[in-house]
Amino acid sequence: MAQYAIIGLGRFGMTLALQLAKMGNDVIGVDNERKVIERVANSLSHAMIADVTDEGVLKELSLDYYDAVVVAIGEDMQASLICVVHLKNLGIKNIWVKATTEEHHLILKSLDVSRIIHPEEEMGIRTARALHYPMVREYMTLGDRQYVVEIPAVEKLSGSSLADLLSEVKNQVFCLLIKRREKLYPSPHEQFVIECGDVLILAGDRPSLTKLVPRLM
Ligand code: ADP
Repeated sequence: MAQYAIIGLGRFGMTLALQLAKMGNDVIGVDNERKVIERVANSLSHAMIADVTDEGVLKELSLDYYDAVVVAIGEDMQASLICVVHLKNLGIKNIWVKATTEEHHLILKSLDVSRIIHPEEEMGIRTARALHYPMVREYMTLGDRQYVVEIPAVEKLSGSSLADLLSEVKNQVFCLLIKRREKLYPSPHEQFVIECGDVLILAGDRPSLTKLVPRLM
């Protein structure tokens, strides 16, 4: 079980904290609004009303025992930055921070935090991809324009072998795994015959995956 501290429980911070708690982690939520803390008190391991611009308050929380501290104060940039500076001074290593504006991002970069999060932009990109490639249920970026994608096989793929499906993108797109009902078939042979409803996990570069799109819809 990991331990996380989420500072600022607006829409993003609250969802993050509740989700981490649901996943079985030890989560402390901190916010300066009593109403907000009352809402999460029963769902998190600890919930605390505090103003995180006060270094003394942060010190008392012993945040160095946590695996990560997330600062999810968006609107009040000054509070977010002061909190980050205090966390840095307290020697906290793994600090993730939500940024709302370009200036906010720029300053966070110079403060050398572990990760800067842009929830709206990141969700915008995911939503655009979901609209543009509706057949892709999930994807993971590998960098260098390479992706791992999860694609449920449509009816017209029934009876095709993997070799048929991937013939145009041989050695560019690889099938890592097929899931059929509850069973997993890792590194399936190219003669594996696809059934409608199989879930294919494919890896490859974006142009090659895009070439496959018409066969997957
Ligand atoms: P979102 O866009 O994700 O809803 P907000 O910036 O609106 O994010 O919400 C941030 C949360 O951080 C709010 O619940 C607010 O009460 C809390 N917050 C703002 N300033 C402080 C502070 N100095 N100390 C503790 N919590 C704060």
